[in-house]
Amino acid sequence: MKPFTHVIPVSDALRLVREAARPIERRERVTLTDAAGRIAAETLTARADVPPFDRAAMDGYAVLATGTDGATADAPRRLRMAGVTYAGDAPHAALGPGECVEIATGAPLPPGADAVVMVEHTAREGADVLIREPVRAGRNVSHRGNDLPAGTAVVTAGQWLSPARVGALAAAGVADLLVFAQPIVALASTGDELVEPGRPLGPGQIHDVNRYTLPPVIAAHGALARHLPPIGDGLDDVHAALDATTGADLVVFTGGSSVGDRDLVAAAVAERGEIVFHGVAMKPGKPTLLARLRAEADAPAGRLFLGLSGNPTSCLANAYVILVPLLRLMGRLPAWQPRQVTATLGRDILARAERHEFHPVRMDGDTAVTAFKGSGEITSLSHADGYIEIPAGTGRLAAGTSVRVTLFALS
Ligand code: AMP
Ligand code: MG
Repeated sequence: MKPFTHVIPVSDALRLVREAARPIERRERVTLTDAAGRIAAETLTARADVPPFDRAAMDGYAVLATGTDGATADAPRRLRMAGVTYAGDAPHAALGPGECVEIATGAPLPPGADAVVMVEHTAREGADVLIREPVRAGRNVSHRGNDLPAGTAVVTAGQWLSPARVGALAAAGVADLLVFAQPIVALASTGDELVEPGRPLGPGQIHDVNRYTLPPVIAAHGALARHLPPIGDGLDDVHAALDATTGADLVVFTGGSSVGDRDLVAAAVAERGEIVFHGVAMKPGKPTLLARLRAEADAPAGRLFLGLSGNPTSCLANAYVILVPLLRLMGRLPAWQPRQVTATLGRDILARAERHEFHPVRMDGDTAVTAFKGSGEITSLSHADGYIEIPAGTGRLAAGTSVRVTLFALS
């Protein structure tokens, strides 16, 4: 065993993560069906006006506004109904003097009409329509190009494609577009003791937890997890697994990054690249390791390697703190802003003064109660609703203190 010689503050680790993260340059074409949540890699301009014609924004009667001047309920203006236009119809023939056309929302206005009188402000009398309120020109009309004039940007390169932006693309008739590729994450658990859930445990064995906690976090933050088979604790095993990460943008291994005799991940990684940091003054997650692997044909800048503690609670907590910002930078997503609430601490917490602590808590009304059992116990997190941060140097946090709780959420 060899203790950590150089442990850096969590703020330094996050800065180094930001500096190391390279936004993905690869692009791919997707159809609109798959566009939501992606990042546009091209600016798309409207080829034609949206909407493509002046259309009714209300059910009623298309009129020439001046023909309704002075209309009241007692002294309505009488217009002759020349026809009906429904959405999807071609426009009616031009309005003659004293005429109107019954029109449905979304239907094209006939030439000569410049407003729509709501049906509620009218009455029918045979082939005539009594207009009981005047309208101004343009009233209840959605003008051609009002939504998106031809030549204007619908989305710009680098923009996150919300459902509404995908909707704007659809309105503009765009069927597919270039988006930035999602970061590919090669993910593996290390440990001779690990067995898939569903299989019986032999002596000394436990079920692989990290294989199930990390992929949903990776997917929720815009990346694609490519799972490798579990890795044994031999140096050759780790090298073979690293050989199998070709094509990935980021490699994430859990376990084996601590300082035990069998924790050979750092040694293997050091032989294949440069360690950025190994050892962070945070709890949980001290053995966290970031490295840049040597350049390869498919990764000229060298892919990043993130080693997380095998302890399930450390691993998942570090995924929220370190992996998520890294993935979002690589994937060009806006910074994550998890929901936070203010709560009163229910019981004293004795913090480790030398490390920045991410301390899991359960919410009981407005009270936050510690849920931390240990870094190896996944129930430290599965029985928690979120975590509070206790900066290094704090020591005891007394019951009754007001705390900010960051709530767990997938995205
Ligand atoms: P390590 O980081 O490899 O030293 O592992 C620390 C602790 O976490 C040990 O008790 C391991 O058995 C446990 N552990 C490592 N990887 C996993 C995993 N994928 N699932 C559950 N426990 C794990
Ligand atoms: Mg291990």
